[in-house]
Amino acid sequence: MCDSNLKILTAMEKFNIANLPTKIQKLERFSKELGANIYIKRDDHTGSEISGNKIRKLEYLTKDALAKGCDLLITCGGIQSNHCRATVVAATLLGMKSAVLLRISDTPPVTGNYFLDKLLGADVKFCTREEYSKHRGEIMEAMAEEYRKQGYKPYIIPEGASNAIGTLGYYNCMEEILKQEKEMGITFNTIVVATGSGGTYAGLYLANEVKKLGKRIIGMAVCDDTEYFTNIAQDIATEALQYLPEHKEEVLNRGNIEINDKYVGIGYALSRPEELEFIKKFARQEAIILDPVYTGKAMYGVYNELQPGGNISKEDNILFIHTGGLFGLFPISETFPL
Ligand SMILES: *Cc1c(COP(=O)(O)O)cnc(C)c1O
Repeated sequence: MCDSNLKILTAMEKFNIANLPTKIQKLERFSKELGANIYIKRDDHTGSEISGNKIRKLEYLTKDALAKGCDLLITCGGIQSNHCRATVVAATLLGMKSAVLLRISDTPPVTGNYFLDKLLGADVKFCTREEYSKHRGEIMEAMAEEYRKQGYKPYIIPEGASNAIGTLGYYNCMEEILKQEKEMGITFNTIVVATGSGGTYAGLYLANEVKKLGKRIIGMAVCDDTEYFTNIAQDIATEALQYLPEHKEEVLNRGNIEINDKYVGIGYALSRPEELEFIKKFARQEAIILDPVYTGKAMYGVYNELQPGGNISKEDNILFIHTGGLFGLFPISETFPL
């Protein structure tokens, strides 16, 4: 990183880039079908170019980057990474350069998020799955070194912007939800969110713990498993305590972390026919587009857990956070079962 002296941020220091607060609406027909009360928070409406959950984390990370005098953001993800696209857009908005390390297997078609990365002029570097899983940190560090030689001051953002600073975006989102609960006269007992790198879940969990809200927060895993994300969420949330001066010394109860890994399906960014059928059904029912990689699987999980024998209660007010991902639907449009 460009400057080693750690600046202590509070949860309030961020750029205002996203369209916040995002609205909460009831899923009338979906709720009626299931005999439940299901609401959706439209974090897919945080902006068009910056659509989705990553911008909430990037509001904090970009603030930190500029405070440290950096002028280039480097990050990584899959070829269709929403996070990489949002980082490229945020960098451009703030007058910074951006570079993304993208994981590929074949020569990728220029579509979806990857097309937008290119459209905005990001530097793109490819790597294989294996290089990505074992060496992405080193590769990004080597990229940073090259840019330093050219006179840039790079700032590296980890996969999914899921670190202690990024997670403050979803700590803050919980504060937003609490305000909306007051305005709407509703308490959301159960909150559900898709979980891919863990930072979104970690921020919600952190807020639930330090504010003693007692909500049930379910992370629907879209890759890996329960143990993996339980560790990640606990680590990120614990590290983030340092940015909440009034809660610094607290110990978070990892027993309250709830990750459901029953809806990963056949793997990250791979879809089963029933998941795509569900996305279609939901689009026609509610006029809301879920994405195949994250929200489609997570909402399919909600749908299944509300069936007889499932483990979400119909008595609860359920809030699903729509974390975005629309651009990820276009690369599969040719094979989608319409
Ligand atoms: C990244 C992403 C998620 C998962 O958020 P994490 O913080 O990485 O767990 C969910 N939905 C969409 C659309 C995403 O792009």
